[in-house]
Amino acid sequence: MPALEDSIRFVKGVGPKKAALFEKLHIRTLRDALETYPRDYEDRTKITPIADIAEDGKYAVRAVVGTEPKTTHIRKGMTLVKCTIFDESGSLPVTYFNNPYAAALLHVGQEYVFYGRVQMNGHARMLVSPQSEKVVPDAEHPGRIVPVYPLTAGLSQRDMARVTEAALDAVPGDWPDPLPEVLRARYNLPDAADALAAIHRPQSAQDVTDARRRMVFEELFLLCCGLQQLKERRKAENGIAFERISQSTWDFWDCLPFMPTKAQIRAIEDICEDCASGRPMNRLVQGDVGSGKTIVAAALCALAAKSGFQAAFMAPTEILAAQHAETLAPLLEKLGITCTLLTGSMNAAQKRAALAAIESGAAQVVIGTHALIQQSVTFHQLGAVVADEQHRFGVAQRAALSSKGQTPHVLVMSATPIPRTLALILYGDLDVSVLDEVPPGRQPVETYAVGENMRKRITAFIDKQIGQGGQVYVVCPLVEEGEMNLKSAEQHAVDLQKALPHRRVAVLHGRMKSAEKERVMQAFAAQEYDILVATTVIEVGVDVPNANLMVVEDADRFGLSQLHQLRGRVGRGTRQSYCIFFGADKGQTARERLKILCKTNDGFEVARADLSQRGPGDFFGRRQHGLPALHVADPIADLALMQSAREEAEQILQADPQLEGYPELRARVHRMFEERDDEAFN
Ligand code: ADP
Ligand code: MG
Repeated sequence: MPALEDSIRFVKGVGPKKAALFEKLHIRTLRDALETYPRDYEDRTKITPIADIAEDGKYAVRAVVGTEPKTTHIRKGMTLVKCTIFDESGSLPVTYFNNPYAAALLHVGQEYVFYGRVQMNGHARMLVSPQSEKVVPDAEHPGRIVPVYPLTAGLSQRDMARVTEAALDAVPGDWPDPLPEVLRARYNLPDAADALAAIHRPQSAQDVTDARRRMVFEELFLLCCGLQQLKERRKAENGIAFERISQSTWDFWDCLPFMPTKAQIRAIEDICEDCASGRPMNRLVQGDVGSGKTIVAAALCALAAKSGFQAAFMAPTEILAAQHAETLAPLLEKLGITCTLLTGSMNAAQKRAALAAIESGAAQVVIGTHALIQQSVTFHQLGAVVADEQHRFGVAQRAALSSKGQTPHVLVMSATPIPRTLALILYGDLDVSVLDEVPPGRQPVETYAVGENMRKRITAFIDKQIGQGGQVYVVCPLVEEGEMNLKSAEQHAVDLQKALPHRRVAVLHGRMKSAEKERVMQAFAAQEYDILVATTVIEVGVDVPNANLMVVEDADRFGLSQLHQLRGRVGRGTRQSYCIFFGADKGQTARERLKILCKTNDGFEVARADLSQRGPGDFFGRRQHGLPALHVADPIADLALMQSAREEAEQILQADPQLEGYPELRARVHRMFEERDDEAFN
């Protein structure tokens, strides 16, 4: 009797070569195989009569082979196998491309269940490279629900099925279930062993649904338990107590060039409260692009300095770090606080000076990129840490920055406009402040989705906006080698310059040296250029209020939320701003998606539409930034379950913070968060 810890080498048919391939999928033991879930299922139980097939799609057909499979050789070494199958309703041609074995498997007069894609060519139909299973006489239902596993070259679904079968056989009868029985009963969930069997060997579609629901609940429940414990543990740690601020007399408010919004005030008050409590703060400030997160961070920096500590402000790109330094330094200097910039592209002398100031404490606020977490950086007394656009950093990077001080207060900021409920769970170890208000006087960005036929008019519109004193961003998607019909930023800049010879065009892309990037960005901000053609390096945070037109090329290639982020680069000043998306002529889906952005400027609404359009995503397996990898749950599609899981986790931990009464649950939570360290980097 094999055990789950045994190597898959003991499975019949798995030699050293296959084992090496399985290893690529991180499958070494039977347990690994058991925990590798199908990414999808093919429902071959629904048999479609051949006559009913009228459009492209995957079908299961129960049919008899009518003609001898014929192999023809096309081009070098390639083969094509053709035959015809029929059922009571009609007949259908079948082809196999480059699979000569297929011919050997099929026999004239024999009935099979075929499963595969039907391609329509006008009225002509063709079943392409279907899987086939012989129909066994007297078997009631020959079709099956077939799991589809992630594969690697050289491994087949059959290989995967073989090892998972062996793994299921090795599951002991008293398999421990991490989910407490009360919860299984309350949510009507199958137990662990049954669920695993149904995941790998489903009898019906309902089986899969139930099993999956259970695995999702389990995963989210473990996640919530772990996050909750993390949060409690942090709360129990001693933090630095910053000065308790009297908001009405705090000079910070006087140094702002504008009236803060109510939402900004609330967030800043939250922060001051956290930092004075004597416990380390772990707070997320979540706000749509342009909601004004930067000054919230500035408030924390000011508070730290006032309390005699240093603050570190980490941004994901050099451009953004430089820009933050430029806006914050003059502001904080009014309060007598010194700021220092530290980025990787500074020259040796600059770096040395910055490092010395950081170490002596002369630099009270340090703004930089991930250069801040390098070993050579030593702080005199780091009391607060800010990570801007936190989804760009992994847990590990945030932790590395924190470790430069003794449990400093941590503020992370994100513009990823996800619904609050979701944020609470994804960032379950953090407290959350939401900036749900944009600064007053902003006019919504007028947004249009257009096709190639509008090219000339848009070019004229660009010219007109510049003529009126505005500036223009043009964003191109990243072009991978070999992709046709897409323009690279460089090429597009050349073309635009040709079309508008009297305008000043600059280009910015990821492969440029950072010093050069920064120079271009600063020159654009200083209005030395009219048009900035860029890749999405400008997606996050860049703030040039005079820019009032954003044009996105091939916008159908971007996610809705990403387009919304890009649009957030304009509409920052008082000038009426515009956003134009090319790509509306790339089919109906593209047009409909882009229309959503034309209709609303609200990032939360865009996110909701984006989430619902993207659908449940990959059936299994998706990774969240900086969280333990989720193998089963989809935090978007499974939102309702996630809420229940969170509530239940809170309840259980309230009664039993260490989970002493739940050894299996405790062990599994531990394992999940151990994995976290090596998987957290993105
Ligand atoms: P975010 O980082 O949330 O996208 P920023 O902090 O970059 O937004 O702020 C966007 C712009 O709005 C900046 O030019 C900033 O100076 C300005 N701003 C921020 N808060 C206010 C406010 N309360 N009133 C007016 N302008 C503001
Ligand atoms: Mg920002």
